[in-house]
Amino acid sequence: MKLADLSSKNEFTPRHIGPNDNDIQAMLKTLGFASLDEMADKIIPSQIRTDHNFAQVGGGVSEYDLLKQLKAMVSKNKVFKSYIGMGFHDSITPTIIQRNIFENPVWYTAYTPYQAEIAQGRLEALLNFQTMIADLTGMEISNSSLLDEGTAAAEAMFMAHALCKNKANAFVVSPKMHPHVIEVLGTRAEPLGFEMIVQDPATYDFNKPVFGVFFQYPDTEGTVEDYSVTAKKFHDHGALVTASVDILAMTLLTPPGEWGADMVVGNSQRFGVPLGFGGPHAAFLATKDAYKRMMPGRIVGVSVDSQGKQALRLALQTREQHIRREKATSNICTAQVLLANMASMYAVYHGPEGLKRIAQRVNRLAGILADGLTKLGYNVSKEAFFDTVTVTTDKAASIIADAEALGMNFRLVSANKVSIALNETVSAEDVETIWMAFHGGKKTDLSVAAIDDTLKLDLPANVTRKSAFMTNSVFSSHHSETELLRYIHHLQNKDITLTHSMIPLGSCTMKLNATTELVPVSWPEISKLHPFAPVAQAAGLIDMIKDLEQKLCDITGFAAVSLQPNAGSQGEYAGLLVIRKYHHSRGQGHRNICLIPSSAHGTNPASAALAGMQVVVVNCDNLGNVEIADLKAKAEQYKDNLSCLMITYPSTHGVYEEGIKEICEIVHANGGQVYMDGANMNALVGMCRPGTFGADVSHMNLHKTFAIPHGGGGPGVGPIGVGAHLKEFLPKHSLVKEAGPANGISSVTSAPWGSASILPISWAYITMMGASGLRKATLVSLLSANYIAKKLEKAYPVLYKGKSGYVAHECIIDVRDIKKTSGIDVTDVAKRLIDYGFHAPTMSFPVAGTLMIEPTESEPKQELDRFIDSMLSIRKEIEAVENGKMDKENNALRNSPHTAQMLMKPEWNHPYSREEAVYPVEWLRANKFWPVVGRVDNAYGDRNLVCSCPSIEEYR
Ligand SMILES: *Cc1c(COP(=O)(O)O)cnc(C)c1O
Repeated sequence: MKLADLSSKNEFTPRHIGPNDNDIQAMLKTLGFASLDEMADKIIPSQIRTDHNFAQVGGGVSEYDLLKQLKAMVSKNKVFKSYIGMGFHDSITPTIIQRNIFENPVWYTAYTPYQAEIAQGRLEALLNFQTMIADLTGMEISNSSLLDEGTAAAEAMFMAHALCKNKANAFVVSPKMHPHVIEVLGTRAEPLGFEMIVQDPATYDFNKPVFGVFFQYPDTEGTVEDYSVTAKKFHDHGALVTASVDILAMTLLTPPGEWGADMVVGNSQRFGVPLGFGGPHAAFLATKDAYKRMMPGRIVGVSVDSQGKQALRLALQTREQHIRREKATSNICTAQVLLANMASMYAVYHGPEGLKRIAQRVNRLAGILADGLTKLGYNVSKEAFFDTVTVTTDKAASIIADAEALGMNFRLVSANKVSIALNETVSAEDVETIWMAFHGGKKTDLSVAAIDDTLKLDLPANVTRKSAFMTNSVFSSHHSETELLRYIHHLQNKDITLTHSMIPLGSCTMKLNATTELVPVSWPEISKLHPFAPVAQAAGLIDMIKDLEQKLCDITGFAAVSLQPNAGSQGEYAGLLVIRKYHHSRGQGHRNICLIPSSAHGTNPASAALAGMQVVVVNCDNLGNVEIADLKAKAEQYKDNLSCLMITYPSTHGVYEEGIKEICEIVHANGGQVYMDGANMNALVGMCRPGTFGADVSHMNLHKTFAIPHGGGGPGVGPIGVGAHLKEFLPKHSLVKEAGPANGISSVTSAPWGSASILPISWAYITMMGASGLRKATLVSLLSANYIAKKLEKAYPVLYKGKSGYVAHECIIDVRDIKKTSGIDVTDVAKRLIDYGFHAPTMSFPVAGTLMIEPTESEPKQELDRFIDSMLSIRKEIEAVENGKMDKENNALRNSPHTAQMLMKPEWNHPYSREEAVYPVEWLRANKFWPVVGRVDNAYGDRNLVCSCPSIEEYR
């Protein structure tokens, strides 16, 4: 054989796709098809099929070649020491956290902890995060992460507006907030008609009533000020006070909770999470207990399980956008769990004393730096500072240039102001190099040691923290590596993830997250870049970003893509603002009606409401399709004000609606644009291009279709693709002009390219699979879903099918009739699956009382069969209840999941055996997952809401 025959271009595809060719043939046979293509012809409506050649995607490369190719690209990047600050600081990721959390698939392949019983590990890590944030900010309650500092501030703005009783529509923002935070606040305020007044809050005269005020603490130039008097003034006028804080500074400064803040937001990045050219990082929002029901995002709460034992769960889920829909005040869904877990583990690793020492060291280095600069004759700000030193000088430009020549980035605050923000990686030599940039690039005769000997540096008493923080024992008992290693593994052992078994979550596409795709995320050429470093230093990564944009355009048929939105919900929001701006540009700014089918994901109506639109619901027929007559009637009724339709395709019911082209035409004929929710893109890639069948804008979830891991509930990336007519309105970023078109909407996230450091995952996935690999992945995902549907339909009716009689890439099975005949409900089935070692499918979305199963192309046939057998075995157990052979209440389904402790109790008062409880099928004897808690009581947890670990004092 020749070399050409021995090297296969597409060798990654069979690693990514679970079933091999024999399995595929067997599955096709079950469905009565001879080939994947015959299946595709039958299932996918012909009017949306494409014969595009996907030249940009290419022919696929091996894993080894991919890494070589990407390394060559990013070696064009220059990794400078960045002292730019603005909420982004280099940090030291403890290697134990890097290896055991950041790079550990048990942590990064987990799903959002909705099934609490198999998620106690990450729920505990998130509870630690909440406790750490609440303690550091001096507040009573924190959520378990938000997307970035800018959007966290915007969430606080929505809260302040909703909570404020004075009906004001304006708010004051200190001009000393980070500019990216001000920009995101402005973006989010405008569509709701909120007026943002950027003015020193201390000078505000209240002629116009305001609902809130925003401080940066310390401010963007580094100054630490006591805001308590100004905060009180705003309270006296009925406004709410928000502080955006530096998390490390909170160990030394009086926390905002002690000077009157109602909400405290910020970014936890500098707690051991890499810069990553802007993200992903976990932001946070902490507030008073009284406002907890208005808090955006997810909150972990303490509850009890069926045995009365303490158990954790996501609390107050009724507050999620899923229930409140267009009345929601937040659209956040996917957050930043993996990064929150890293930050909380960093706090566990260092403990309160360790964190304080890091902060004191950074603060002392900054003091020494400032003293040296003064000795060099510079005008250094005399105000108190934490880690950022600001110099007023007419030589600013040349200082920045000298710094760059020395491999450092300073921040040019304004024409005559330079600032330098230090961080935990900075050494004494680094400070001496910084001085050189202020000395024409030459060595100074200053010495850090000499200044250190004499310098007296104290923060003013009124801003110095006196209160204790992080007093819970978790923050003081895992400081040796052995203990921490065991703690991390103790937690992870409680959770089911993709390392255990398939996670068949409809709409969430839990496919393989290949190791090769993830390796580059840790490379310093990517992880060490500051988002506001000169773009030339990121040239290689930006080449990759542009190429990813091209590939996504090629895949979707859109004219341009923005990678800025850092979750699907943010893509929806950005896309709607783009549509809004388009209408405005044509003198049609009054168009504000957004049509949304009743089956839509909750983020859709929530995003529409936040974009200032009025939601009109369109009915679905009993086959689950959009009722075209109703859509037509409503589009015509609102034609003068119609902004857009938001439609998920394939539908959230898991079918290809035949009418999609006609639906798009109706909307266009009435002056509207079509927004396609692309969460289900896994059923389209390589087969259909939404940009060519009628969609004007669509978001794709890179953390679903394009292999970014779910991280236990984030990070995600939700880029949007748009047609040529909308290209000029894509998001820009006022600090980085290369990040978007000049005429675009202002930024929707803090960082110019959102969560830039995880984009290589999707780029690697697309590049390795190549066009034929991606196409095959789509077909196998259809095959697997239909195979499961076929095998299960006698036991559980499949709720919706397309005209062809087949489902798309997921199927909904109906458990509602079973409830009538047996009393067993959808939760019982979901929890019983845990006894079989599986994570339940999506429960009760989009239809209450059903399960939505999405196997993805990555699951081997054996695993699909194991899942099918488990579901059929569960059906037999239900049958026993139906025909009276098993007690209606006291049965293995109602009592599930079964823990080892339940089994070991001497008394066993159940009409089924212990073996039937935990080994209902044979293969479990060899591979058993033991849940650590029994069924968690949701109602109890919401009634007795506790959202932090108690302090040692409280334990006593
Ligand atoms: C996942 C999903 C979203 C939201 O995406 P996030 O990244 O979680 O914000 C929106 N619509 C549908 C149909 C989804 O499945």
